[in-house]
Amino acid sequence: QTRVLDGKRIAEQIQNEIKEEICKWVDRGHRKPCLKAILVGDDPASKTYVGKKMIASESVGVDSEAIRLPSSISEDDLIEKIKQLNSDDSVDGILVQLPLPEHVSERNVCNAVDPHKDVDGFHVTNVGRLTLNMDSFIPCTALAVIELIKRSQIETFGKNVVVCGRSKNVGLPISLILHSDARNECPGMEATVVLCHRHTPPEQLEIYAKTADIIISATGVVGLIKPHMVKPGACVIDVGITRVKTPEGKTKLVGDVEFEGVRKVAGAITPVPGGVGPITVAMLMSNTFKAARNLAATKATEQQ
Ligand code: NAD
Repeated sequence: QTRVLDGKRIAEQIQNEIKEEICKWVDRGHRKPCLKAILVGDDPASKTYVGKKMIASESVGVDSEAIRLPSSISEDDLIEKIKQLNSDDSVDGILVQLPLPEHVSERNVCNAVDPHKDVDGFHVTNVGRLTLNMDSFIPCTALAVIELIKRSQIETFGKNVVVCGRSKNVGLPISLILHSDARNECPGMEATVVLCHRHTPPEQLEIYAKTADIIISATGVVGLIKPHMVKPGACVIDVGITRVKTPEGKTKLVGDVEFEGVRKVAGAITPVPGGVGPITVAMLMSNTFKAARNLAATKATEQQ
């Protein structure tokens, strides 16, 4: 019997837990955690994502604000805005919704966010710390995949994992956590990881995929993972999100995995939508609360 892993239900569970913890935190005399999301331009998908983040904040008790800036903004002005938020003690978490307009360097912008407020985990310091298995802010999509695996009791110890997609924000951090040692400050998951990308020949990807106990696909290539590539009973996690037009002219979201075929072979599978996506938003709430706790602890130490 194939398990369809219900990301919406898991996300609700996580958000309820965070809501309870934030309630206790506020009862102890702290202010609510505060998240600022910067949205540059009016890309419809980015607007939807930021909207979802605002709704989740409201439901768990995080104060949040979407700061909308025009796509014509210069890199310097955007960085100046980030610096203001960095030095504002009432702000715990800052995120800049990607992608940014072409004239702005995403790397410079990600590195402008105070690493202690970097709830997306994109600052070079957090990327470096994660690579060294130290405590850090981990990108929310990677955290979502890890949380999904843990809460669904999928064994990773000594297992074979294939990750498709090597992006710095998604595929790479997923691979880093899965392959590393559980005894680290940031506990890894002890799997053997094969990281595939656009230049992995399809026939080679097929060979790797067939040996995998867990396949994680984060490419945006519709239909990349087909039923014949999946080992019977394997767990298939679909991170991909692609907007396609239906024959009726509506837009719908699809993943990287041929869901209907693969579910007949897999032991567990995530749907799109309703799989990794909602958990990603829940993990942003978790990172924001973590930033608030860390910053409050630092302030308390400074005052001693
Ligand atoms: P990206 O474009 O930065 O990276 C895509 C990756 O896929 C690249 O590393 C590329 O080498 C690899 N790739 C392309 N074709 C391939 C092939 N044929 N075989 C193997 N690998 C191939 O995208 P990203 O930001 O990493 O996002 C990946 C997907 O995940 C997108 O569909 C995106 O919308 C989705 N996403 C989902 C969430 C979520 O919360 N569920 C969050 C972020 C991104």
